[in-house]
Amino acid sequence: MKYSTYLIKYAEIAIKGKNRYVFEDALMHRMRLALKQIDGEFAVSKTQGRMYVDCKSDYDFDELIAALKKVFGINAICPMVRVEKKDFDSLREEVIRYVSEEYPDRNKTFKVFARRADKSFPVRSTEMNCALGEAILTAFPEMKVDVHTPEIELNVEVREDVCIYSKQIPGPGGMPIGTNGKAMLLLSGGIDSPVAGYMIAKRGVKIDAVYFHAPPYTSERAKQKVVDLARIVAGYAGTICLHVINFTDIQLAIYEKCPHDELTIIMRRYMMRIAEQIAKENDCLGLITGESIGQVASQTIQSLSVTNEVCTLPVFRPLIGFDKQEIIEISEKINAFETSILPYEDCCTIFVAKHPVTKPNLSAIKRSETKLEDVIDELVQKAIETDEVINVI
Ligand code: ATP
Ligand code: MG
Repeated sequence: MKYSTYLIKYAEIAIKGKNRYVFEDALMHRMRLALKQIDGEFAVSKTQGRMYVDCKSDYDFDELIAALKKVFGINAICPMVRVEKKDFDSLREEVIRYVSEEYPDRNKTFKVFARRADKSFPVRSTEMNCALGEAILTAFPEMKVDVHTPEIELNVEVREDVCIYSKQIPGPGGMPIGTNGKAMLLLSGGIDSPVAGYMIAKRGVKIDAVYFHAPPYTSERAKQKVVDLARIVAGYAGTICLHVINFTDIQLAIYEKCPHDELTIIMRRYMMRIAEQIAKENDCLGLITGESIGQVASQTIQSLSVTNEVCTLPVFRPLIGFDKQEIIEISEKINAFETSILPYEDCCTIFVAKHPVTKPNLSAIKRSETKLEDVIDELVQKAIETDEVINVI
């Protein structure tokens, strides 16, 4: 069946009062951006608390649904038939035509759910339910009514036009990007951080990202992989401003001057410090990492708290209580997994110690960091100056 309109359902409970407009406007904006990416002409509109996508030209159904399934804030997408409002007889005909085209297999149970938003329409909703139900049973004797758990819930809404729909395609849920500020994602080439970015973006947070690379120890291909991952997250989160920072000299200095079992933790602290500085310069209100308790030595609770100690911004760790398998499932769902597992080296893995500390002591780490005193401020400053900004769409 060819649909000319889609009803967009979104979670209304959380968005009362003034916030409602902010939420709705952001959602419409994001839907328009998503629909621009595909062939066809579409109009997004809102009337009487309902949001619609009207298709003004030919389009591909699968492409349209795929695009809308990436727009956070959408709970369900309902393909809909919109017909002119005339009298009840013609409405009944349209409903029969809809059922006949939409459900060639009629061995189904159904329930009619009519709504009369236009109170000037002469037939009340309860009467419509009965009359339309009867008409369907007469036209298609194989069908049966089930008011409790129908296979088909046939919605008939009388508004400026008559809207008929019965299918709900689940959307991604969440809140529209831009309704909850902006945060800086520490994006590596691994499995976890793209998922972490996706999860925070889902709550309406706009994302910037920072990637630390260590040329020539890490390659151009490793960097390209991170750009590719940023693009996958950007499919949901909108354009991502990716900062690529050259971390080589800092890493070499740490390697040269600090105990090797503390390398990773000290390196992580410098990553967080630099990420925080770039975040603040770019109006980000928090940092995001892909850390999860106990996953590796640098993610024990002790290590996390030592890393955390250098940050003044809140650090969002949406994967903190997730098992690897649960993270992989989301990674696969958002189509990041295949890219994440490409085998390019990461700057964390190159300078890694054989036996890293798993219970670092904050004072000991601070003492080790004093060995960097003479050089580190300048190195950090220089690293920040290498900032290469890539707008990933
Ligand atoms: P991921 O799969 O996200 O790479 P991981 O399991 O490899 O995570 P770590 O390497 O300990 O774990 O990194 C923990 C977190 O630190 C990452 O999720 C990411 O947010 C951040 N991070 C690590 N390396 C980098 C990097 N090179 N650039 C930016 N952020 C990084
Ligand atoms: Mg990693």
